[in-house]
Amino acid sequence: MTVVVIGAGPAGLAAASAALRAGADVTLLDSSDQLGGQFWRHLPDSAHAAKQHVLHHKWGTFEALAREVTQHPSCSVVANAQVWLLEQRAAGAPRVHAHVGPVDSGGRETLTLDPHALVLATGAHDRTLPFPGWTLPGVYTAGAAQALAKSERIALGSRAVVAGAGPFLLPVAQSLALTGARVLGVYEATTTAALLRGWGAKPWQLTAAVGKMPELAGYVAGHVRHSIPYRTGRAVVEAHGTDRVEAVTIARVDETWAPIAGTETTIETDAVCVSHGFTPRLELAIAAGCTISADRFVEVDARQQTSIRGIYAAGELTGIAGADAALAEGALAGHFAANGPRSAHIGRAARARDRFIDFGTRLDAVHSPRRGWTQWLRNDTTICRCEEVTNGELTSIQSQTASCGLRSLKLSTRAGLGICQGRICGRNVEELLGEDFADGVTTDRRPIVSPVRIGDLADAAAAEPPTEDPHTAGDLHPRETLKGTS
Ligand SMILES: Cc1cc2nc3c(=O)[nH]c(=O)nc-3n(C[C@H](O)[C@H](O)[C@H](O)COP(=O)(O)OP(=O)(O)OC[C@H]3O[C@@H](n4cnc5c(N)ncnc54)[C@H](O)[C@@H]3O)c2cc1C
Repeated sequence: MTVVVIGAGPAGLAAASAALRAGADVTLLDSSDQLGGQFWRHLPDSAHAAKQHVLHHKWGTFEALAREVTQHPSCSVVANAQVWLLEQRAAGAPRVHAHVGPVDSGGRETLTLDPHALVLATGAHDRTLPFPGWTLPGVYTAGAAQALAKSERIALGSRAVVAGAGPFLLPVAQSLALTGARVLGVYEATTTAALLRGWGAKPWQLTAAVGKMPELAGYVAGHVRHSIPYRTGRAVVEAHGTDRVEAVTIARVDETWAPIAGTETTIETDAVCVSHGFTPRLELAIAAGCTISADRFVEVDARQQTSIRGIYAAGELTGIAGADAALAEGALAGHFAANGPRSAHIGRAARARDRFIDFGTRLDAVHSPRRGWTQWLRNDTTICRCEEVTNGELTSIQSQTASCGLRSLKLSTRAGLGICQGRICGRNVEELLGEDFADGVTTDRRPIVSPVRIGDLADAAAAEPPTEDPHTAGDLHPRETLKGTS
């Protein structure tokens, strides 16, 4: 049995480990040069860090999983492997096409895999709502701030503001403070009343959250130690500056996140780190034909199998519920992808997963963006930064063309057609244009997942193995094994 796992974050590492324990031959691919995904981004080995675990939860779990997959004789770990296409086949899991090598370098190696089963564990990227001035240098996604703190120990700015929604703001503020920034405040858009109502209701459904209490207590203690104020019902509604950010306006918002006039205050700052939640990286699942739920996650059954036989999904792809949920789902996906037998360990993972589903549902209900955010936009606010499309252009072109299909709206406005292919602006564009499009298209569909050089495409075509027999599956083409490439 051969299993390919795409993504080496908590979900993918747990999936690879479970599939190995169930007896499969596993290939673990990740576009990053390190194992660990977003949660365990860390200093490069060349830094010889004595305190790698600083800024990390469950670092011991990561070390054990990483050791297991890199040392197991039946596991090939391929770092710097960007999967850019899943090609559907007549039977079995799709053919996996990857390029191996530094991002956007020429002559990357072509890797083609025909596994018996596939686990998708591609995670999410953070979502940022636009506001006037958000394109100024010095305004970052909170995820970028966290990634730089964890993998470089670099603090963005010396006087930082953290804003947006959700518990992710807490570790970001903590990391900034620990890497040397002064954090002027954390501004959570959800109001206190909505937080109490959302998290206080039906507490018996929140057993998973109990396990997160020590982590939360650590953040609260860190905020007190570093004197970081935490304010609810407030949002950054404008960033000011000429060449870079110099100040932000923060306003109180109502329960719909609409700013309340007359409550604005301005704070001088040199770094603004913003996150309004996460968007799953759905493109491979969509390319493989997996069903996507109404709330835009990959639909899976109790075994983490998607609507396509032989394709499993785990982690943020199936719902945003944090690294513990990703670990539990990954263990199930890997185990069932490898046809593992029932076991007590898998029963425990299933129960943990079910508890985290409730936690993730609550997280989404309490902190997901409310429609009032559009009221802090102006006509000249950039929405799609790659193609420089403003709010005014987007809405006026929509009314001029009377188009109700997203494809034609994208073509006429150019929003979402730039280098990020809508990863940053896609959901915002959809909300501004009206969400339900007559053509049923969404901004998550990207059949070619990442930019590919024409020369690399030609190489891929030359190296293409025949597609007919899926049961010659699992072979590595053209290299026999890539073990140790980590
Ligand atoms: C920028 C960022 C920072 C975060 N930091 C924290 C944090 O500090 N604390 C916290 O509690 N939560 C954090 N989160 C949330 C966190 O990601 C999850 O809780 C957890 O890591 C989810 O695990 P996962 O395995 O589903 O996804 P990830 O950890 O995101 O792993 C997905 C992996 O898939 C790989 N991948 C994606 N697409 C491809 C492809 N086409 N080809 C090859 N590889 C691919 C990625 O490189 C990545 O390594 C962060 C999220 C983001 C986006």
